Amino acid sequence: MPPTFAQLGAPDFIVSALAQRGISQPFAIQAATVADALDGRDVCGRAPTGSGKTLAFGIPLVAGVGNAEPHKPRALVLAPTRELADQIKTELRTFAGKRRVGVAYGGVGYGAQIGSLRRGVDILVACPGRLEDLISQGEANLSAVDKVVIDEADRMADMGFIPAVRRLLDQTATWRQTMLFSATLDGDVATLTRDYQRDPVRHEVGDETPDIRAADHMFWNVAKTDRTEICAEAVDAAGSTVVFCRTRHGCDRVAKQLNGRGIRAAALHGGRSQPQRTRALAEFAAGEVQALVATDVAARGIHVEGVGAVVHYDIAADHKTYLHRSGRTARAGQGGVVVSLVQPEQVKELRSMQRKMGLEQPITDADIAAIRQPSRRQTRHRTLERPAAKRAAADHPEAKRPAAKHRSRHRRSNNNRSRSKGRQRSSQR
Ligand code: ADP
Ligand code: MG
Repeated sequence: MPPTFAQLGAPDFIVSALAQRGISQPFAIQAATVADALDGRDVCGRAPTGSGKTLAFGIPLVAGVGNAEPHKPRALVLAPTRELADQIKTELRTFAGKRRVGVAYGGVGYGAQIGSLRRGVDILVACPGRLEDLISQGEANLSAVDKVVIDEADRMADMGFIPAVRRLLDQTATWRQTMLFSATLDGDVATLTRDYQRDPVRHEVGDETPDIRAADHMFWNVAKTDRTEICAEAVDAAGSTVVFCRTRHGCDRVAKQLNGRGIRAAALHGGRSQPQRTRALAEFAAGEVQALVATDVAARGIHVEGVGAVVHYDIAADHKTYLHRSGRTARAGQGGVVVSLVQPEQVKELRSMQRKMGLEQPITDADIAAIRQPSRRQTRHRTLERPAAKRAAADHPEAKRPAAKHRSRHRRSNNNRSRSKGRQRSSQR
């Protein structure tokens, strides 16, 4: 029997706030780190996406944070992207009680962020760039920060934020608690740990990389000119899908082409305004948009549950990217399909990437039926045409989870016209 949050030392107000959200059993990374972090130890945690790292650092942060004076937050969470920062803020606020949780990230006006800093923010969740801006304007001062979290440190490194992270850490209190979480702990992340953590407790949970075997991986030979059509069919078959393109322009174009084919799609990339990005994500999470067409950078840290498929419209640049992208689906023990659209001249490159990941699947012709195969999609591919299966699913306790609400499923036999109209929704996954 794993310990409860209370047994790990979480205060009552947090335990009951979490219980209200149906969260009562700590995940492995939480069971491993919360007690040490509550004791004030530095923590260096490695765990794959979706494993519950936000609560692992959020509980100790909320439990131990001090009261902030204007402009001087007491705890700082650094995150690589605006979306992730926003998600962390939202999650923390569900159990933060009287603690004030604020954000600092770019792409939106300064007014609200400055206003809250002036009133006082106990826990500030920030992206490095905007935070440095606010500091240079005299609106934020990190000298009272004695708890720091670096979330998705590997991604910070990938995105070139390490120098900024170092500059920011250098401005925090010398005696501080530093928690670092990352999917990998090598390279720049190891250096960050060495330079900024004091005798950290290390907890490593799960495989070094996300569990790629949780998803079905398919590699399809597709001519460049057929990609959009195949992609549209794959989305139609899989339901909620994240489509990856290499460039912002590519995202816009593919989203437009999918929309033209009756697939509701929205682009998510750094070239869009923050309100546009927020809206795209919200619509995708609600099942109003079936395909979220994203760049690698924009997609990091998006935690939409029940994503049925990932399509590598442009094949991943390397195996790390492949794993991060593919980790958008098959989360939390659910199944999922990952499809790479491979052009003839990319076969060699793809083969070498596959070898690095131990994914030796052959490159085949496009096979939409394989996406639909119930045997492949056991837990997630409910069919609207089978009411009995639907009832059985509704009786299944998992179907009652709030996250299960937004699954959108539709029939293969729908033609393009009905595709573009109101999609049928089912209330189960
Ligand atoms: P990570 O940061 O490791 O990718 P998150 O912290 O975003 O993962 O958690 C993934 C999902 O799991 C979130 O929706 C979160 O609310 C949920 N979750 C986290 N911990 C628990 C738990 N102990 N019980 C149930 N759900 C949890
Ligand atoms: Mg996270």
